[in-house]
Amino acid sequence: MSKDCKTVWNNCLGIIRANIGEQSFKTWFQPIKPMRLHQNTLTIQVPSQFFYEWLEEHYVHVLKKAITQELGVEGRLEYSIVVDKGNDKQKPLSLSLPNTATLRGGLHKQQTQPVGNTVAVIDQKPMYNPEPKVIPHPQIRSNLNRQYNFDNLIEGECNSLACAAGQAVAKNPGTTAFNPLVIHGGVGLGKTHLVQAIGNDIKSSMPHKQVLYVPSDQFITQFVDAVKTNQVQQFTNYYLQVDVLIIDDIQFLAGKDKTQESFFHIFNHLHQAGKQIIMTSDCPPKDLKGMEERLLSRFKWGLTTDVKVPDYETRLKIVEAKAKQEGMNISKNIMEFIAKNVDTNTRELQGVLVSLLAKASLTRKEIDLQMSKDTIEDIVKHQQLELNVEYVMKAVAEYMGVTIEDLKSKTRKQPVASVRQIAMFFCQRYTQESVKVIGATFGGRDHSTVTHATKAVERKAKKDDAFKSQLEGIKAKMKLFS
Ligand code: ADP
Ligand code: MG
Repeated sequence: MSKDCKTVWNNCLGIIRANIGEQSFKTWFQPIKPMRLHQNTLTIQVPSQFFYEWLEEHYVHVLKKAITQELGVEGRLEYSIVVDKGNDKQKPLSLSLPNTATLRGGLHKQQTQPVGNTVAVIDQKPMYNPEPKVIPHPQIRSNLNRQYNFDNLIEGECNSLACAAGQAVAKNPGTTAFNPLVIHGGVGLGKTHLVQAIGNDIKSSMPHKQVLYVPSDQFITQFVDAVKTNQVQQFTNYYLQVDVLIIDDIQFLAGKDKTQESFFHIFNHLHQAGKQIIMTSDCPPKDLKGMEERLLSRFKWGLTTDVKVPDYETRLKIVEAKAKQEGMNISKNIMEFIAKNVDTNTRELQGVLVSLLAKASLTRKEIDLQMSKDTIEDIVKHQQLELNVEYVMKAVAEYMGVTIEDLKSKTRKQPVASVRQIAMFFCQRYTQESVKVIGATFGGRDHSTVTHATKAVERKAKKDDAFKSQLEGIKAKMKLFS
């Protein structure tokens, strides 16, 4: 029997190969294994649900042609999908599989049956589905900034594990246990630098590898544009050809359900194909709100590690390295003074140095202690904070004399309900969060509540001058905070 199924499948492959591009054939048909032939039903094993969906969506026509030619018009094809262990908590795979052929053709009912740790989907008489155009992409632009490399990345206790994992991944992308590699930590602590260094390292030692760095917001924009212009397939194809995908600041995917779904598929496919995925986030993945559980569970497959605020020794090393790189004439005790006083993050530390350099060259003076002190005060103490929901809540609550707990509570009593609307308005206007995430932060409210609140506040501000100046007061308070 098993010989027969191999022969039949091999003949099918011959037909398929003659009908589609070589690259598509290699990607989508070589990994398939024939499993059995029972009467006129051929069972093939595909590596994942995504694979199955892709075949169904794009190659159903050619598959039907091959099966009909080999097994006659009564010939049937059955998929056996290797069940993805990360999917444990999902509803049963057999139920979640969309069967376009059944839905549109309506010829046979879809049946499913478990086979060991796989689920077989019986599919049949597929309907017409246009051939996909898999556009062969030559070397893709990696988007990497060459300035970020391992040589100028200072290691310390704050980032030693992240650096070690990064270097291991750079040597053997896709084949270490660190797949995906997730680096998290606060702003300005070197996440982007580290992940770009990995990408640059791979590009220089393995130039044939397709490395792609993409900030999450760019990924989101590309996806949204692809949806608008009906090019989701091209969008996906583009990402499926990379060997190393670096996606920066994944917290921006929060609340973007459709984009997450697309990323989930890309992630699965790349991971399955042994490609390396590297991500950064501004908080530990478990704290990401508005992120699908199945996506978060994928992150656990690899290594998640953080970068912390550098300790004094590391900060001093960073200052010395930067000063050397910029050719700055700066004495040891001033470098120590700076390293001691700028203890927020590396970006600010560098900001202080660059600013000092500018001042010294403008005034033609040597960098001294007073100049350093003034600069640190300018940059570190008076810097505009990036607004987040918690911050806005705090400012509004304090200004209006209620508590953050009030804002998150269920109460609809006045004045809390009105203050909550004001806080929602500010969150929507001044933070990067989606209305879904904002609603969730305000005690698990719906996104429509946020939209409604924003509109109500805008309406009232137009009519009521006293209310308008209250809003101005809150705005001023937020600036004062920073
Ligand atoms: P993040 O992505 O975590 O917000 P970045 O990678 O953008 O931070 O780092 C901010 C700046 O600080 C960059 O110019 C980066 O080169 C520098 N930097 C951060 N960490 C280090 C480090 N360990 N060694 C040298 N430079 C660093
Ligand atoms: Mg960054």
